[in-house]
Amino acid sequence: MKKHLYLILIIFFLTTAFAGLAFWQNNSNENKNEKTKIIFLDVGQGDAMMINTLGDTQILVDGGDGKDILNKLGEYLPFYDRKIELVIMTHPDKDHIGGLVEVLKYYEVEQILETGIKCEKAICEEWDKLIEEKNIPVKYAQFGQRIKVGNIEMTVLYPFENLKDKEIKNSNDASIVLRLVVNSEQGLQPESVEILLTGDAGFPVENDLIYQNINIESKILKVSHHGSKYGTSSEFLKSVKPEKAIISVGKNNYGHPATELLNRLRNMNIEIFRTDEGGDWILEY
Ligand SMILES: [Zn+2]
Repeated sequence: MKKHLYLILIIFFLTTAFAGLAFWQNNSNENKNEKTKIIFLDVGQGDAMMINTLGDTQILVDGGDGKDILNKLGEYLPFYDRKIELVIMTHPDKDHIGGLVEVLKYYEVEQILETGIKCEKAICEEWDKLIEEKNIPVKYAQFGQRIKVGNIEMTVLYPFENLKDKEIKNSNDASIVLRLVVNSEQGLQPESVEILLTGDAGFPVENDLIYQNINIESKILKVSHHGSKYGTSSEFLKSVKPEKAIISVGKNNYGHPATELLNRLRNMNIEIFRTDEGGDWILEY
């Protein structure tokens, strides 16, 4: 009689375990992306954008300031995915690098792309120390570099030269400018959409890009420097020709986004999204 009881218990245990495993597998299949997700994360006054590719690869461009980014990543990634395949740091201002330092602490980062400009701030020292401790490979951004991850192709448009260890007065104007092409093959006809990321770059960088005749045309533009009036000129907009513009902005004392900038966008009938009003902005392809 006792033997029977053991047998029943063992069968019960195995059935439950298999059912649990099947459930877990089903769930993880559901988490496999059927679409590419591009999320402009609302991290207050700062920039953070996550790309979740069809192949379940994550790319993070900037991380806002502080720990908000960790909650955001937790919201969009399954609990067991602790890996970010590529982190791009456009420039070492606190509202871009601050959250990335937290990401380095709590996530496994496979590769970093940055400019490497000279930075003696405490946050930069922490950043460099974590990279060294965790032995993360770093690439220094320079015009023409191409990065292909799954169905996404990124091209570095700025800086024009390697800025490693260079002293730059205005770090905003040493921001990495990236053009992304997302190839969607959902329908019969492959479609693609371009996204231009400009960090906090101002007029000088925009003018350089225009006069060098670099292809910056993109359907979606992440407006530079949280909507500062010193960036995103009408001339620049005429070259980019965006249909939609996203302003990553929170409470601030800088007057971001500036009325002048908003008017420049409105005058060209560009649809405006703001993270301070609409929260996270999610694009799916
Ligand atoms: Zn900024």
